[in-house]
Amino acid sequence: MVFSRLSAIITVALGALKLADAATVGAVARAHDACTSLVPIVQLIQTNLFDGGECGEEAHSALRLAFHDAIGFSVNGGKGGGADGSILIFNKTEGLFHANNGIDEITARQFPVFQETGLSAGDFVHLAAAIGTSNCPGAPSLKFFFGRPPPVAAAPDLTVPEPTDSVTAIIARFADAGFSVPEIVTLLSSHTIAAADKVDPTIPGTPFDSTVGTFDTQVFLEVLLKGTLFPGNGSQPGEVLSPLHGEMRLQSDFLIARGPPVSGKKTSAVVTATFKEVMAKMQLLGQDTDNLVDCSSIVPTSAPFDGPIKFPASFSQADVEIACTESPFPSLSTVAGPAPTVAPV
Ligand code: CA
Repeated sequence: MVFSRLSAIITVALGALKLADAATVGAVARAHDACTSLVPIVQLIQTNLFDGGECGEEAHSALRLAFHDAIGFSVNGGKGGGADGSILIFNKTEGLFHANNGIDEITARQFPVFQETGLSAGDFVHLAAAIGTSNCPGAPSLKFFFGRPPPVAAAPDLTVPEPTDSVTAIIARFADAGFSVPEIVTLLSSHTIAAADKVDPTIPGTPFDSTVGTFDTQVFLEVLLKGTLFPGNGSQPGEVLSPLHGEMRLQSDFLIARGPPVSGKKTSAVVTATFKEVMAKMQLLGQDTDNLVDCSSIVPTSAPFDGPIKFPASFSQADVEIACTESPFPSLSTVAGPAPTVAPV
């Protein structure tokens, strides 16, 4: 009698287990179907937004837009919906914020493509950023979680750090959004594929390093070189002396690079891996991951970066203004030829 009851309990338990397995299999299948449905959308975004797969201005701007959208958030509440696409839907409001100067170009470019995809604005903004970034050689395949609800309101002003801000203010704003100082430095590696349009409006599209078409660690090397010139119309708010003609150096990057040491040398592999994780955190701010499906598998893989990085032509270790004290400066060769003028994007 006891044995039969026990076997009955085991049978019931096994039955429940089978049901649980079936539910899991069903959920996995539904997730697979949801992600598969995105494959033609990825192709549509590549074709209609990134000219078939370029690491060009739209790719740089898509990553910037994702950041400006997501950072509209506070772990203490009361600031905005985070990575919700509010910057695209409420572009008339968020586009007026000083930190979003010039972002109207990419929101105008993305809006008709967004409408074609049928995605929520948050999914679109953060998928477009992942796809655009993947077009840059050396970039990590960013994660993509699918299923963000539509944004409910514009983020308030003063959530996006500006190059004119003090390091203290920048660290405080990121901390309010849940990010540590090492994570800030990791996020700054995005400046390896970025350019400034509005810091000096006389020279739009001025890159922050000499390899704007490659996701590498070049920006972390060049920010350490002694600045000697302004690339455009003299000193602008948020701008400091640059080492190279055609290159923009932001005051905030300059100050953070010369602030308290965060860590020693950053290899491309370390930066790429940590950028992937920190961006995943950024692109999920304000979102309930229980309601999202991990569709990272549909994000394209970038071409590899054939490193290592080099000093720009005519530069050497002698031009390094400051270096980590905790580890020896890596031995880097110099690109051949005369000092370059970095071309605008
Ligand atoms: Ca937002």
